[in-house]
Amino acid sequence: MKTISDITTLKSVLQEDRRGGASIGFVPTMGYLHEGHQSLMEQARKDNEIVVLSVFVNPLQFGPNEDFETYPRDIERDEKVARAAGVDYIFYPSVEEMYPKKPSISFHVHERAGVLCGTQRPGHFDGVAAVLTKLFNIVQPDRAYFGLKDAQQVAVIESLVEDFNIPVEIVPVKTIREQDGLAKSSRNVYLSEKERDEAPAIFRSLEKAEKAISEGEREAAAIRDIIISEIESNSGGIIDYIEVLSYPDLQPLKEIKGRIIMAAAVKFSRARLIDNKILTV
Ligand code: AMP
Repeated sequence: MKTISDITTLKSVLQEDRRGGASIGFVPTMGYLHEGHQSLMEQARKDNEIVVLSVFVNPLQFGPNEDFETYPRDIERDEKVARAAGVDYIFYPSVEEMYPKKPSISFHVHERAGVLCGTQRPGHFDGVAAVLTKLFNIVQPDRAYFGLKDAQQVAVIESLVEDFNIPVEIVPVKTIREQDGLAKSSRNVYLSEKERDEAPAIFRSLEKAEKAISEGEREAAAIRDIIISEIESNSGGIIDYIEVLSYPDLQPLKEIKGRIIMAAAVKFSRARLIDNKILTV
């Protein structure tokens, strides 16, 4: 495994691999790797001859009052995890390497972005679209792997790739959880002990809602209420949003029908956690 920080070197090694006929799987991350990232790397390893992992905390996708500066970083640990998962190259660029000057063109994602995390984090998906367009052009992967924990991100990326004819297959990967159901996240390290005990209420609320749907509940508002009351009565977290929408178009629903997402964002003192469940009814 090689860690490469400059774009020119990465492009030239990958060009060699491609010439030899190797398929390239790409896993973009912000690092501080956990089992969620690991499952993306493992899937990429199964499907491709070459696996590229990027570790880049992208300033464009953070708002002015968000955690860009304090986002957890540990490249040495990430290198160990990536090596164990069979990654061939880690792309670990600096901000200056990715953005040597202020970009002259920016993205504006106007579908699938004005709800859920898009409302609370204006500009977030614009930054995600910009960095991924650059990374896709640099790596030119056959397949790119994204976690369904960030299901809205998957929906936006699918639109990006379709709208701009980017020749990459997007592979969504299911959410990896702790034993008590809490979705693995780099931000879980911000939780206090008490908050860590309470945080699985988010997943439990989604399971409870799923059960209600399986028992015949079809009113989206009632499902939303089940999720809210389960979280509020079992944790001190402040609800940022609870939504029940169509997936992947993320349109509001009155009646639960077709493919839907139930999504939650909950703020704890130092961490905002998100989770979701996608179902077909
Ligand atoms: P991040 O480093 O948080 O930007 O995440 C990088 C990739 O890992 C994204 O595609 C995430 O959706 C995915 N990911 C993060 N947490 C999980 C998880 N618990 N299970 C599966 N994928 C995840």
